[in-house]
Amino acid sequence: MQPWFDPSLLFINGTWRACASGETLPVINPSTGEEFARIARGGGADVDAAVEAASAALAGPWGALTAAERGRILLRLSHLVLDHAEALAEMEATDVGKPLTQAKADVIALARYCEFYGGAADKLTGQTIPFQQGYTVYTLREPHGVTGHIIPWNYPMQIIGRSIGAALATGNACVLKPAEDACLTALAFADLAHQAGLPAGALNVVPGLGTEAGAALTAHPDVRHLSFTGSVATGKRVQIAAAENIVPVTLELGGKSPQIVFADADLDKALPFLVNAGIQNAGQTCSAGSRILVQREIHDQLAARLSAEISALTIAPAMEDARLGPLVSARQKAIVEGFLAQATPDQILAQASVPEGLPEGGNYVAPTLIGNIAPDHPLAQNEIFGPVQVLIPFDDEDDAVQIANGTKYGLVASVWSADGGRQMRLAKRLHAGQVFLNNYGAAGGVELPFGGVGHSGHGREKGFEAMYAFTTLKTVAAHHG
Ligand code: NAD
Repeated sequence: MQPWFDPSLLFINGTWRACASGETLPVINPSTGEEFARIARGGGADVDAAVEAASAALAGPWGALTAAERGRILLRLSHLVLDHAEALAEMEATDVGKPLTQAKADVIALARYCEFYGGAADKLTGQTIPFQQGYTVYTLREPHGVTGHIIPWNYPMQIIGRSIGAALATGNACVLKPAEDACLTALAFADLAHQAGLPAGALNVVPGLGTEAGAALTAHPDVRHLSFTGSVATGKRVQIAAAENIVPVTLELGGKSPQIVFADADLDKALPFLVNAGIQNAGQTCSAGSRILVQREIHDQLAARLSAEISALTIAPAMEDARLGPLVSARQKAIVEGFLAQATPDQILAQASVPEGLPEGGNYVAPTLIGNIAPDHPLAQNEIFGPVQVLIPFDDEDDAVQIANGTKYGLVASVWSADGGRQMRLAKRLHAGQVFLNNYGAAGGVELPFGGVGHSGHGREKGFEAMYAFTTLKTVAAHHG
């Protein structure tokens, strides 16, 4: 699948151009291991040009638009994304190995983010504040200025939608550094935004390596806000860079999210969620429900039902649209296999089989259920970022909370129980940015604020909350006697 634009170029100031070094990086199809395109290896000079273009846009036509005009551009962009749904989904499936149905869901989510933030653009208001006699005091919500966006490869379109959508709606000018393994839909989005009428420089895309283009963006003194989604290790570096320039940073990092199943849960309803929350996008999901905590009296029953489901999962190249495609890269496959090697044979409760005859260079890993494992085992503590779930028994509510809160992460949690009081108690006690009661929301929720606690990060994106994050508050006090 070849994109409709030249993917080896950068998108800066509304035009396509080669990167300063002229170097390119390969784009590998994870389903086959074959190179099918090249992307630019952007660096410091390209980031400088992108930030300069963004600054000029703020001082020029982009900065002069009203909130309603910005909103209309995003709404037009939403329609253009839908018009290109098939091409975008095929591009993503080929680039990151995501099964076609899941890639299509990401396109719909991207369009929905543009729609949501397009509609929200002129709904953000300040306040008037009662103060002393003779004063009128009010607040203004203003854009930060140039915002830097660094995103990972697992849900490129969704993360572009939530981060760039909210930043543009609030009047910032953006520089986006997509992940090395997933640049195509970011470039396509910039092209569509241009077609939708976004003024030059309001959105610039600089593909390249994290240590080069990414690091240059985080260090740039004219970038006034950083939005980072990715690993904990890189998140720390980004936060340190943000500290050097004293700029706010949103960190959306990893997780080891618990799905807690009590004996009174409706297992027929829960089962598809329990499985899907772990294997969607081949488990490469920050909010994957990768720890299933089960009340001891139904442990064996649930283990048997999960085993049957997981053993039957289908695996195929992304374009054949099975339940799982390959992992994004040979590197990610090696990481997941390294984790799996830590399990003893009695800990592998179930494993699907990778079918014969798949392309040899593809990064296929069999979905696996692990059990007979202590809650503090590395497999139960670390984010694996592959199709691997662990099953851990608990005795009662206190035990469940202790195990659930017993990792360094805190992104999402779910509670499966018929007891309403218990649902409310656990919703308060669980360390997580989102808690789902009798459902699991890893699939989306454009309207729902999202983010973590602990090593899952800080700050919130999605929903209206992101509009606050992408603005700075100014208080105006007028003394008129
Ligand atoms: P990563 O941290 O390796 O890379 C993320 C981005 O950071 C990439 O664009 C990369 O090029 C860039 N980068 C790398 N080094 C950099 C540096 N020194 N300075 C600036 N930028 C740099 O993460 P990944 O492997 O691409 O993504 C997987 C991780 O992302 C997982 O931990 C996952 O949980 C997390 N994630 C979180 C969310 C969320 O919303 N919380 C969503 C998706 C993924």
